[in-house]
Amino acid sequence: MQVLEKDYWKKFDIWKDVEEYEWRNWKWQIANRFKSYEDIKNFLKLDKNQEKAFKITENIFHFGTTPYYLSLIKDFSDKNNPILKQILPSTKEIDPVSQIESFLDPFLEDEMSPVSGLTHRYPDRVLFRATNFCSVYCRHCMRKRMFLEDEKARTKEEYDAMFQYIKQNKQIKEVLISGGDPLTLPNSKIEYILKNLYQIDHIDVIRIGSRELVVNPYRFLDDDLLQLFDKYDKVWLVTHFNHPDEITNETKKIVKNILSTGTPVLNQTVLLKGINDDEKTIEQLMRDLLKSKIKPYYLFYCDPVKGVVHFRTDIFKGIEILEYLRGRLSGLGIPTYAVDLKDGLGKIPLVPDYIEEIEENHVIFRNYQNKKVKMIKS
Ligand code: SF4
Repeated sequence: MQVLEKDYWKKFDIWKDVEEYEWRNWKWQIANRFKSYEDIKNFLKLDKNQEKAFKITENIFHFGTTPYYLSLIKDFSDKNNPILKQILPSTKEIDPVSQIESFLDPFLEDEMSPVSGLTHRYPDRVLFRATNFCSVYCRHCMRKRMFLEDEKARTKEEYDAMFQYIKQNKQIKEVLISGGDPLTLPNSKIEYILKNLYQIDHIDVIRIGSRELVVNPYRFLDDDLLQLFDKYDKVWLVTHFNHPDEITNETKKIVKNILSTGTPVLNQTVLLKGINDDEKTIEQLMRDLLKSKIKPYYLFYCDPVKGVVHFRTDIFKGIEILEYLRGRLSGLGIPTYAVDLKDGLGKIPLVPDYIEEIEENHVIFRNYQNKKVKMIKS
């Protein structure tokens, strides 16, 4: 967890005249995003390779980051900095060798879409893609194909068609609003979506998937947004922290605002090569999440998406990490490690195997210290 001092952004020349009411305003953060090579080249003093990566990817995948997210970088000269690696383009994104076995839409979200913007894969849930805009474009995004489109929210007519489909399909109990990042939308649009979903009796849970708490936490200093969470009280927030450097002393204070509306806050992490693929980093991240009152939910194996697979680790790395966490961290802090199967076949959990042997009437288990114990089967 990083401790941010008062007015910490003023230590950067570029923001030395930015007042607190501006810096801590989510709209200011979005309006002052770095969106191109030209915007960022002087700030980061990019080298030739980084410059080349920008040049060859700029017309393929969007680039973008908030000032806040940049300000969390501890050492700008460190090419392995976990935040820099999540936002800076890499030549590997379009290298055919690095991108072998990759797909634009491996989970067939667009194919399994009865109505534009809506994916219906599991019987009781739908994915509701509200916009394709994000305040930060993560290089590892599983929906990176949206970076090929113009940045825009869906129209009211598209939303209405999605509501209609959900109303007609009573087996749907949960709606996952995602994007892009739905919390980059203005409150009026968010209210329109929440109100319409809330009024559908068979919807029990409205899950919002957003990275704003990580990249623009000041979104949750907006009382009007918090009032919407309070009013439409089927909302759960699922955020996406990948590294302890992304959590700060401000995070906890801001999470408190969200929790005060009765909205649970959970986190999904993606296992990313060179960013968080080691036991200690994940342990620290899970501890910092708990301290901030965010429940670790999923640790995802990185998806086979075009422009992303260079972030993939060995699939067994996640199981090793879970083995390490078990016994060191309470169950509250241990996420489910999961792989999303391609062709839209759904997520499956992967767990370490604690069964050593199965006998006729007994099972031999091992614990986290590798101690064996025999217990009766029934
Ligand atoms: S904020 Fe979420 S949807 Fe947007 S680029 Fe990052 S991972 Fe993808």
